[in-house]
Amino acid sequence: ADLYNIQSWGIGYFDISPKGNVVVTPFPNNRDVAVDLTEVIAGIRDRGYEMPVLLRIENILDSQIRTMHETFRAKMKEFEYKGAFRGVFPIKVNQQQQVVEEIARFGEQYHHGLEAGSKAELIAALSLLRDREACLICNGYKDEEFVDLGLYATKMGVKCFFVLEMPSELSLVLERSRVLGIQPLIGVRIKLSTQAGGHWTDSGGDRSIFGLSATQVVEVVDTLKEHNMLHCLQLLHYHLGSQIPNIRDLRFAVLEACRVYAGLVTEGAPMGYLDLGGGLAVDYDGSHTNYTNSRNYTLDEYCADIIDTIMTTLDDDAIAHPVIITESGRATVAYYSILLFNVLDVSRFEAPELPDGPDKDDPEIIANLFEVRDVLSLKNLQECYNDAMYYRDEARQLFKHGQLTLRQRSLAEKIFWHIILRVARELKNLKFVPKDLKHLPEALADIYYCNFSVFQSLPDAWAIDHLFPIMPIHRLDEMPVKQATLADITCDCDGKIDRFIDIHGVKRTLPLHELRDDEEYYLGAFLVGAYQETLGDLHNLLGDTNVVSIRISEDGDFSFVREVDGDSVADVLSYVEYVPKNMLEDFRKMAEQAVRDKRITPQERGRIVSAYADGLRGYTYFER
Ligand code: PLP
Repeated sequence: ADLYNIQSWGIGYFDISPKGNVVVTPFPNNRDVAVDLTEVIAGIRDRGYEMPVLLRIENILDSQIRTMHETFRAKMKEFEYKGAFRGVFPIKVNQQQQVVEEIARFGEQYHHGLEAGSKAELIAALSLLRDREACLICNGYKDEEFVDLGLYATKMGVKCFFVLEMPSELSLVLERSRVLGIQPLIGVRIKLSTQAGGHWTDSGGDRSIFGLSATQVVEVVDTLKEHNMLHCLQLLHYHLGSQIPNIRDLRFAVLEACRVYAGLVTEGAPMGYLDLGGGLAVDYDGSHTNYTNSRNYTLDEYCADIIDTIMTTLDDDAIAHPVIITESGRATVAYYSILLFNVLDVSRFEAPELPDGPDKDDPEIIANLFEVRDVLSLKNLQECYNDAMYYRDEARQLFKHGQLTLRQRSLAEKIFWHIILRVARELKNLKFVPKDLKHLPEALADIYYCNFSVFQSLPDAWAIDHLFPIMPIHRLDEMPVKQATLADITCDCDGKIDRFIDIHGVKRTLPLHELRDDEEYYLGAFLVGAYQETLGDLHNLLGDTNVVSIRISEDGDFSFVREVDGDSVADVLSYVEYVPKNMLEDFRKMAEQAVRDKRITPQERGRIVSAYADGLRGYTYFER
């Protein structure tokens, strides 16, 4: 059975081999090409990289771009849509140079463009986008420098649209265009009244902070007319929010936008481009539902519904079909990165060894607890649980008042845990689990300590309870016998993962295998390519992980195409304004003083200073 539901959320990119290892199958048309993740890890280790490692599979990124364009093309053909499709990648979703470069390189054949939401992103986009057919969409606040750069890009032939987010931006664009003598391409971002469900949807709806109201759109049209510049208004944009799980919300939004689009054409604007923003969701749990972490539609349906809605709305008014732009970020990059990490240790809940029964000198409370243990059966689980809790609290009180010794309190607690563990184990034999007892399995789950930082690598899991598929990448031919939660190495009580994907909602524990002596146990957090790298922070000074990119060939070989060293300790310290060179010097002085004080020998000084210097050069994560 597919215990981790990989067949569903993996959408064909991931599978389990007969050997029980996770394999990557990057070619949708040829699932026989499969690369074993344990072999990739062996290659990573051979190259001297420590875990955790963020693994990128470039073929998957290419495949996602190709699939999106080919699906839109196929649906446009089927519906006889007269316009074209132009995707753009919003840089904010993964700003890493290698990611954006690969999107620009591979996307060129489809005229896939970029979306920039700030000056820095615009500057990055201009360094990478060479395709003159691709769109460069400029969202976000724009100052004079931003506008000038965009206008120069336009002059050089880049299809650079200024999307007005605020009414006040128009006067700046018009002024700079007059001064520089360059005609801008202008778009307007509208506030929709449609509001969608999901985590990230505050950017849509009437009260959204971005975009123009209907009145403001009319004012923009009037101002452009006054300046004889209405011919520059060619694009309408909206963004309903990210990760929209329900197709109905997407459909209503396109419909509303089409009405505004038609209104602008009626006003005399040339238009030609309809930009639907992001929102195409990723089915993180593979449930195909409208849960926050899923989506109740396929890519085929997404494309078909958009095209159909645009056609039925605009054909009535005989308006030419616009070029459809989408700004899909999450769906483009989520699949192609996996966080690989090893388990360092396990903290287990095990039934403590107990004496046969109470000793004649034992206090009454101990005898009571033993009695609960002896009468416990499937029929009285709740009652025994209640009694055990009661006597345990009582024992603590007695201890506080000096009526129990430390050893007696310890025995009382051992019997208590023995009872609770037996109750928890029996629960699976009950048809109906009482509400009070439902939480027991997770409260008693083992804790697997893992070599990564939630804050650095899976920030959304911490910040907004986002669920990512997490599973062992090997030993899957063996039934996992443990139920666990994960703790990271930040020593922060929030540095944990205790919510896991489940097709019925959320699971509180993850089935895992027993650790084996002298053998690493590796887990993967999948679908982490979108947002996580950028949002990650330096909590406890755990820095960027090593990043390794592979490319898989048609014959199933793979090569390491890019490697980026993770942060060293010196790197993260310098981010918070330490100067590693000075730190080493200060430490050397401290050691020299210790030699003078005869606490250490000069030889020891040598070793101690080298250990400090090695520490500064080392990886911020646990090194074996
Ligand atoms: N476009 C804009 C304006 C956005 O703010 C965002 C992110 O929320 C996106 C596109 C990307 O959305 P998604 O990752 O859901 O495709």
